[in-house]
Amino acid sequence: MDYKNIAMAPAKKIALVAHDNKKQDLFAWAKFNRNLLVRHRLYATGTTGTVLEEELQLEIIKLESGPLGGDQQIGAKISEGEIDFVIFFWDPLEPLPHDPDIKALLRIAMVWNIPVACNRASADFMISSPLMESAYQRLVPDYSDYRGRLENRTTEVQ
Ligand code: PGA
Repeated sequence: MDYKNIAMAPAKKIALVAHDNKKQDLFAWAKFNRNLLVRHRLYATGTTGTVLEEELQLEIIKLESGPLGGDQQIGAKISEGEIDFVIFFWDPLEPLPHDPDIKALLRIAMVWNIPVACNRASADFMISSPLMESAYQRLVPDYSDYRGRLENRTTEVQ
């Protein structure tokens, strides 16, 4: 498979999401790392973003609340190249009504080779990586063949 490079600037476009039982974890983590987060552009689902904005005194681009479509908005922004980093503290112990949306967000992040931190330890490692502060060429499969697959099938049928 061929790959394409997608350029990530030193200032990353980071989406932050935390499920209710994980919100305190994310808020504590974000406060501790405020001086690093301030160098990036921050997005968040509605409730997470409202509290984060207050706690950090930083501007956050707030989307809809997760169960009301916020996770899907983040997924769409990943596909459009608007978000290039995800910190998603999801809850492994409680079933949630928007489980399909959570799975969809994690899936689309894999499709586009987006770094995803799903707990505090991975978020700690990732935020302290030198790559957070530098440009990075993200390798993404060249999906041209995938997009053209029906054209090929039509040719085969004829
Ligand atoms: P919230 O959404 O930030 O609006 O609580 C998070 C989620 O449950 O996906």
